[in-house]
Amino acid sequence: MKKRVAILGATGSIGKSALDILRKKRDLFQPVLFTANNNASELQILKKEFPAALLALGKKEILDAIAKCDADITVNGISGAAGLEPSLAVINAGSDLALANKETVVMSGTHLLSLAKEKNVKIIPVDSEHSAIFLLIMAHGRENVSEIILTASGGPFKNYSLRKLKTVTPREALSHPTWNMGQKITIDSASLANKGLEVIEASYLFNFPPEKIKVTIHQQSIVHSMIRLNNGAVYAQMSQPDMRLPISDALSWPETDFSPWGSLDFTSLSLSFEKPDLEKFPMLYLAYEALKTGAPMPTVYNAANEIAVKAFLEGDIGFLEISALVGYVMEKSLPLEKKPWNLETILAVDRKARELAEDFIRLGRQ
Ligand code: NAD
Ligand code: MG
Repeated sequence: MKKRVAILGATGSIGKSALDILRKKRDLFQPVLFTANNNASELQILKKEFPAALLALGKKEILDAIAKCDADITVNGISGAAGLEPSLAVINAGSDLALANKETVVMSGTHLLSLAKEKNVKIIPVDSEHSAIFLLIMAHGRENVSEIILTASGGPFKNYSLRKLKTVTPREALSHPTWNMGQKITIDSASLANKGLEVIEASYLFNFPPEKIKVTIHQQSIVHSMIRLNNGAVYAQMSQPDMRLPISDALSWPETDFSPWGSLDFTSLSLSFEKPDLEKFPMLYLAYEALKTGAPMPTVYNAANEIAVKAFLEGDIGFLEISALVGYVMEKSLPLEKKPWNLETILAVDRKARELAEDFIRLGRQ
């Protein structure tokens, strides 16, 4: 029997990589739904290729289609906080979730995991680092793992001075050295907010406290992450930087798909590892702070960062003000209310943080 596959965000970078797998694996997968934000013509082209699939555009249509498409597994490749409700809808519909949208985990952490448990669905990470860790933990046993080591490319500004960082432009920030991705995640990679979000994502998904999650800068993006075992041994997952591998791993789980997605040439490989510079890249530091503070601070961090990235792309704030804004919003959000977390309470925190972020931008303009 073919697996019924839904692709949310089919017109984006993750969506296109997922489509490539569906094209190559028509014998294994049956596409049942493609969604996008507003690109109707691109979805119509997909419909010609896969006539049996439903199409959905915009929030309401997407949520309805998720409920009725009867997918076995759904790839969530929507960018940003807009991915949260669809993720929860996927779980409520009883479909496994191949999750690229890390914001879902950051915003809804324990609520997401308990809902998945209640509905008996699997969340299989697609983020390359988390896919690597997921497979490494499966291979070695969670009880034997003492530490997670996330790798980060360091982005285009790895070697810039603080002074130089002050004047970098959106265009410079959008040219990532190793990965070709959507705009939001590319800016997040340049500020290391992406790694910050991933530290939070790893903490919730694998149930590790912040002090047991380390980040190392690995410029080549060949080692996708590592685990350290209690006996000191470190295991790494290495492959070409190609998102089709983690997506294909997630779609095939618990089977393994052994089709090749590029091979490593060790004769020309040179790998480096460095400590991240938290002074130059405070977004990573702030993510650890958010995680240590606990829910809903990661939701605040994510919302403030989204507003900051948008403002940076629109030329309203400078690159270094991204972290200044997020730090401001986190501080202004204290003391935190500890509520039972569900979609409604999470979205209220998200909204409040966005308002505070807008305040910061307005104050700066005066
Ligand atoms: P992208 O910008 O290329 O694509 C985003 C997709 O989401 C598009 O199809 C768009 O139509 C859809 N979308 C955007 N806003 C929407 C909304 N409000 N409602 C419904 N649909 C909406 O982004 P991407 O690079 O593919 O990233 C998607 C997610 O995957 C992000 O959470 C990102 O962090 C994560 N991720 C991406 C990569 C990568 O290589 N691109 C790697 C790891 C994780
Ligand atoms: Mg990643």
